[in-house]
Amino acid sequence: MSNTSISKVFFIGLQTKENEDQMRLKIQRLFDHAEFASFLEKGDLTAVKVHFGERGNSTFIPPWFIRAIVKKIRETGANPFITDTNTLYRGKRRNAVDHIQTAILHGFTFATADAPVIIADGLTGKNYVDIPINQKHFKTVKIGADLVHADAVIVSSHFKGHMMAGFGGAIKNIGMGCASVQGKKEQHNVRPHLPEPEKCQGCGICKTHCPADAIEIIDGKYTVNEELCVGCGDCIRYCPEKALEFNWESDLSDFTEKMTEYAYGFWKIHQNKIGFINFVLNVTPECDCYNLSEIPIVQDIGILASNDPVALDKACYDLVNQQPGNRASRMENNFNPGEDKFLGVHKETKGNIQFLYGEQLGMGTTHYELIEIK
Ligand code: SF4
Ligand code: SF4
Repeated sequence: MSNTSISKVFFIGLQTKENEDQMRLKIQRLFDHAEFASFLEKGDLTAVKVHFGERGNSTFIPPWFIRAIVKKIRETGANPFITDTNTLYRGKRRNAVDHIQTAILHGFTFATADAPVIIADGLTGKNYVDIPINQKHFKTVKIGADLVHADAVIVSSHFKGHMMAGFGGAIKNIGMGCASVQGKKEQHNVRPHLPEPEKCQGCGICKTHCPADAIEIIDGKYTVNEELCVGCGDCIRYCPEKALEFNWESDLSDFTEKMTEYAYGFWKIHQNKIGFINFVLNVTPECDCYNLSEIPIVQDIGILASNDPVALDKACYDLVNQQPGNRASRMENNFNPGEDKFLGVHKETKGNIQFLYGEQLGMGTTHYELIEIK
């Protein structure tokens, strides 16, 4: 795709809470306008890429929204399944057994979503395919095998903040979200450090929150086992003394570029048979991997769809930033319309690398036409 081309992004506003039937109809209208049926053929094994939400989270995209997407896929004669990959960190989605149980507890059963749940990188996350990309950080990327083998993909993403990526939308959902466990590890190659040891009070709160058992308190100070650390950043987030840091400049730029290269690898396989839907609802400061859901940083905006993940994320990012920030949320600054809300809550991040580097890689364009559907 040329950088000067313009991609269509379809948008349905949702300033009011709709009932279930109205929501389903809106999702289905968006699916029709984006012409996702045009690339679906009878019998296509069609992955609906979702995030089932960590246990305790309540702002993941619910199964009854996904059922609306499944219905449209079924109308084409294609054969849908609902999927995600296992996590790198300890939690309730680390292997396929726990992951499917979490999905069921969050309502994703055949009876509710009308399609089977398949964990795309297998029982323990080792079932992946190496996809060549020959880019700056990676020569190949390790994608969950069943997501590679799918004939077509509809990517359903919750658009919200993220501590390291700035925000998470379509690009993050296919970059981190379609990577196998090893692929996630390659992207998270960042480690926290304690630049001023006197700030650490040895309270151990970081250790309690570490999902990888990588922290010991030795001689009253934070010590990280770099082999075990998965680079999630939770210790930084929860330290009450703000004693821990990444190398914000280099680590987070590299992290975001690596994630975008993974997204490119996935997009490259399916580029002619892939559609993206972003739900800009409950725009929480953190992603649905958290076992809680915090107060949103802006009001609900709506649902957007496109064939172009770069244009789609850029449109969502712009719509969020046009809103006033929610002063009841964890935001610290950038409350005015026009200011970057994600920097208001994660001031060191570089979220825009996702769409700028994505455009450079040829995955889409930041130039879009926003088409509002009534
Ligand atoms: S939470 Fe912060 S202050 Fe407490 S032990 Fe960990 S690094 Fe030190
Ligand atoms: S970044 Fe911190 S919380 Fe996350 S795995 Fe590493 S040490 Fe543990």
